[in-house]
Amino acid sequence: MLTKNEHSECASEIGENFAETQLDTLHRIHFDIFTLFPSMFSGPLNESIIKRAIDRALISICLHNIRDFTTDRHHICDDTPYGGGGGMIMKPEPIVRAVETVLTHPAGWSLSPEDAYVNLPTWSADAPASLPPDTPVILLTPQGRLLNQRIVADLAQHQRLALICGRYEGVDERVRLQVVTDEISIGDYVISGGELAAMILIDAVTRLLPGALGFDLGAHQDSHSPGLDGLLEGPQYTRPPTFRDQSVPSILLSGHHANVDRWRREQALLRTLHRRPDLLNHASLTASDLAFLHKNGWSPSDRQVSST
Ligand code: SAM
Repeated sequence: MLTKNEHSECASEIGENFAETQLDTLHRIHFDIFTLFPSMFSGPLNESIIKRAIDRALISICLHNIRDFTTDRHHICDDTPYGGGGGMIMKPEPIVRAVETVLTHPAGWSLSPEDAYVNLPTWSADAPASLPPDTPVILLTPQGRLLNQRIVADLAQHQRLALICGRYEGVDERVRLQVVTDEISIGDYVISGGELAAMILIDAVTRLLPGALGFDLGAHQDSHSPGLDGLLEGPQYTRPPTFRDQSVPSILLSGHHANVDRWRREQALLRTLHRRPDLLNHASLTASDLAFLHKNGWSPSDRQVSST
């Protein structure tokens, strides 16, 4: 359980009702999050799929308050930009110190609240620490590569991920140069801090871990996922069979699985054609998919420049 703690803390409970034998075979990921606002995470990480993944020890999360790694009297983490201009920039030392200190400890380590500011592990401001090469250090930034399902699937292969959340006008460039190995954007727009972006990344990665969803094939069959060959998912229905004079397509009530599968595939193709035709450039399409798309007005020469 993550509490509304302003200092660093970890969540890595093991649920009692999840068989230990299953745990041994599962892929797990540890997230180290570097932020000035750790309490922002307490809601989203304590609910639903993420909470269950923590309870099942599929993921563990340590929130590291960057401010805990300052040693000056006022615990300053930001300063005015060189060259003038408005706003504040996050200083390099607290972030680099936090990242290098945490990542040179085993996954699950965090600074205890009583050690914040006053009793920090030894760290050299002059010489870079040697960081584990298999742990991506990701800066959330609108300047990063655009997050997509392929990147999410790649990240889900790692055992440990470090996420740095920027604030204000962003972080001093030397943070990038010293510790960052990857930069990720959640879209071509700007939000006020990297925390929400980090939560999105954690959520997207976590749902790919076996055991994270109630129905494991669910993530595989989502839009953009391999089970749908890169297409968008078609329309979905549940009870009641009629709502405001709109009925569920009768084929879904037919019980004829092959016909239902074919209908779903065609709906996925149509939805992708109408909403995101650029995705068809990279989708894995069968001859009958191509024939169906052709019948509906698309031809491979309609290829558009992909936005991914
Ligand atoms: N001045 C920066 C720029 O133009 O690139 C934007 C700073 S933004 C107000 C503050 C922080 O929010 C960033 O450092 C980053 O961590 C986060 N952020 C904002 N938009 C983001 C996005 N689209 N994806 C990921 N992180 C984002």
